[in-house]
Amino acid sequence: MKVICIGRNYREHAAELGNAVPTEPVFFLKPTTACLYPGQPIKLKPLLGEIHHELELVVMVDSYARDVPESMALGLVASFTLGLDLTARTLQNELKAKGLPWEKAKAFDGSAVLGEVELPMTASTDLQRFAIELKKNGVTVQQGSTADMLFTVAQQIAHVSKYITLEPGDLLFTGTPAGVGPIAEGDVLEGFLNGKRVLHVTVAKG
Ligand code: MG
Repeated sequence: MKVICIGRNYREHAAELGNAVPTEPVFFLKPTTACLYPGQPIKLKPLLGEIHHELELVVMVDSYARDVPESMALGLVASFTLGLDLTARTLQNELKAKGLPWEKAKAFDGSAVLGEVELPMTASTDLQRFAIELKKNGVTVQQGSTADMLFTVAQQIAHVSKYITLEPGDLLFTGTPAGVGPIAEGDVLEGFLNGKRVLHVTVAKG
């Protein structure tokens, strides 16, 4: 099992970080040790500096697959939830400026926060029609629609599977809408999918 993350998948988020809009999906990986499961707090490690929340639709794949055509990609999706692709932003900016890999800023322990409610994929599920929202301490900080993704979930799966074999249990973080920002000790973060709370996590000291 692995965690695959798509970057810069919403036009306004690419713009807020000063990045160009990509012409194909941008992806990177997090190790399994990055997963933070429901009930566990986010722990801030001073070494990492400022940590940003990135609220994302997360889909779970349930079979082995490679070179998946876009038309068959959604058949691999078993369930979905929301997640936070936590990012050590200052560190990431330093790495980007030097042209270095992002792992130090993206793949650290606990950086892939998973929602507490996992929803099953059904025949009527349309992954590209979800309203997603993140509240920090009760105030909305990120709000978007999966309809605004630059690359659909099906396109993301098809693209990634050209390079990396998908395995049962793999998680795909599908990119964040605009509004990313820092988290601090004591914060309570809640993610809503079509108005239903599916993610709830608190921020503790490192
Ligand atoms: Mg992200």
